[in-house]
Amino acid sequence: MIPRFDGSRDMRRAIDRLARRLPEPLEDLASISYNYLWSWTPGGSELFSRIDAHRFSLSGSNPVRFLWNLPERDLLRAATDKDLLERLRKVSRRMDNDMRRPTQRTQASGPVAFFCAEFGVHPSMPVYSGGLGVLAGDLLKEASDQAHDVVGVGLLYRRGYFHQRMDTTGWQHEYWIEADTDQLPAVRVRGADGAPLKVTVPVWDGELVAQVWRVNVGRTPLFLLDAELAENNPLERWVSARLYEGSREIRLAQYALLGIGGVRALDAMGITPGLFHLNEGHPALASLEIASQMSSQLTGNRRDLGDLLEVGRDRFVFTTHTPVSAGNETYDPGEFFSVLGRAVDEMGLSREEVASLSRVDAMSTSEPLGLSRLAIRCSRTTNAVSRRHEEVAREMWRPLFSEVEVADVPITHVTNGVHLPTWMAPNMRALLSEFFGPDWERHAHDPGLWNHVDEIPDVDLWRVRCELRLDLVELVRRQIAVDRLGRGEDIAYAEAAFAAFDPTHLTVGFARRLATYKRLDLLFHDVDRLRRIIDNEQGTQFVVAGKAHPLDEEAKNVARNMFAMKRGLDTPNRLVFLEDYDLRVAPQLVAGCDVWLNLPRPPLEASGTSGMKAALNGGLNLSVLDGWWCEGYNGQNGWAIDGSVLDDPAAQDERDAGAFYDLMENEVKPLFFTRDSNGIPTGWLTRLRASLRSLGPHFCATRMSSDYDERIYGQSH
Ligand SMILES: *Cc1c(COP(=O)(O)O)cnc(C)c1O
Repeated sequence: MIPRFDGSRDMRRAIDRLARRLPEPLEDLASISYNYLWSWTPGGSELFSRIDAHRFSLSGSNPVRFLWNLPERDLLRAATDKDLLERLRKVSRRMDNDMRRPTQRTQASGPVAFFCAEFGVHPSMPVYSGGLGVLAGDLLKEASDQAHDVVGVGLLYRRGYFHQRMDTTGWQHEYWIEADTDQLPAVRVRGADGAPLKVTVPVWDGELVAQVWRVNVGRTPLFLLDAELAENNPLERWVSARLYEGSREIRLAQYALLGIGGVRALDAMGITPGLFHLNEGHPALASLEIASQMSSQLTGNRRDLGDLLEVGRDRFVFTTHTPVSAGNETYDPGEFFSVLGRAVDEMGLSREEVASLSRVDAMSTSEPLGLSRLAIRCSRTTNAVSRRHEEVAREMWRPLFSEVEVADVPITHVTNGVHLPTWMAPNMRALLSEFFGPDWERHAHDPGLWNHVDEIPDVDLWRVRCELRLDLVELVRRQIAVDRLGRGEDIAYAEAAFAAFDPTHLTVGFARRLATYKRLDLLFHDVDRLRRIIDNEQGTQFVVAGKAHPLDEEAKNVARNMFAMKRGLDTPNRLVFLEDYDLRVAPQLVAGCDVWLNLPRPPLEASGTSGMKAALNGGLNLSVLDGWWCEGYNGQNGWAIDGSVLDDPAAQDERDAGAFYDLMENEVKPLFFTRDSNGIPTGWLTRLRASLRSLGPHFCATRMSSDYDERIYGQSH
């Protein structure tokens, strides 16, 4: 067997080192800390919060950092806590059993290498910004649950994505925090000589050197490349500093590091993927690296790049995640080759050929270059992420497949899903487990299972919903008081936060990236109507959160307008904005809201996933019929706004906002506030059961993973 230097040895060393710091009865906490499986194993996070909840939270819920910094006396005290030790034994046994299951290989020749520019695994690993990353994280976790042979490849952005602070006018400010990599649950991968393994990628006029980190996401290793090395100059080091960096050239350098560097890192570790899964266009340069490796195997028989990619195509699949142009960015040839030219030359490829494969019209010499086109051309399948997105993507990419009809454009779809053990709140999961049976989560895509929701008594279902809402209300009160004090609001306004939100009110949520197509502004399109919904005795409250990209002024203005509008409400505390939305607060937000709102401008929402997370917790979706909701909505399991497209965007906004207010006034509020003699909204619960039953089995990552397996990975040629 070829020795693998894939970081597993280094992981064991780091675990041993941490274990030596712990009292003997707590030693198992070391291996638990270095595997994110703890975060979705029942009882996992309580192990740490029981030792010291405050310090665990200060450590960013990072168990490695937490344990390294915990005072000795607290460790000794924890080592005598019988209840804790019993819990530790349970979690540890469960994780060991999980890790020991045999691997199910989908590719005879090696693992599926899942390449993505961001991964949202956990708030303590800050290498994600939003939906794309969280989906990638969910996919790795589900691969682990299903014991599939998958490895993730991404970048370790030391400063991650930005944090958000609002000023009193509602203008967003950004700041970045640098991670201390020595205290992340990650290890540097070392080679045979014991030195950190390094790969190089030609970028600009130099050689970018990168090291590789390994993170354990259950059974799935995630490898992250990192350019913060003495060999690199400050500009080169900046390549892995921040996710979605503002400079286009730096983004191109990031894509070279991810695509080319990612393939080289796998080679250096002795991992030969059976299949490369390119998640979004960013890692597409991986295909050039493979083509170049194949051309060197064909010495003396030089073929053109198109032929090489054709041979390599069998090893690539591509998923496109957005029709929005910012997600399919293009570059002038000059810009493109100033960063990537040398890499292309050194791979022995022709710049002209690379350029034409990166254009829609391969014959053009002036058209800008984009990586999504390259990804489509070099992959044996391209899939969109919902049924409607498939139609949109076919239309959008038709010019790439000259002459064919839309119906014949070879793009299919696998609708997104979310990792149930991550997104279903523990009390909801415990309630369903009583009726669904043990270990039901691994076959959560079985619709028969979900019929058991009809057996759950009203009181129990309503009790869990009220608990989840209360958790959210407490979070809102705590956080907005701090947000307001932090941005220097007057004391009375900050104090008003202590009583903000009511645990009995109808709670509506809207949280996601604040891209303009998400149309947060529809909420206050007609301020008087919104005011009538909010300012009355049938209490209705809105929680809004999200970050605008630092360069997106238009999106920042939407947030500012909302702040201004809010001041005009009689009860301004019934509409709150939570700063710095990320994975830290997302689980409580999606779980605590009664109604989850999504108002995208159709057809720009490729899928959307936050509504699926809300649904798993018994939240009801009120959404424009776009993305996943076209498949999810069945007339009984939530509410829908017409998703047809009007030519005039202003008229569309007017129509869609009106539909939203109508639904709130005529359907949502009456249903929520109609109660039986026990105070239970039975009609609401009927809808809630319909939502769980119909959406649970279809929008969990278990279903998504099985679709990828059967329809995308399975079809080898
Ligand atoms: C799920 C999730 C998203 C995606 O939300 P959409 O409504 O699908 O855009 C964004 N950010 C975070 C933190 C999430 O967990």
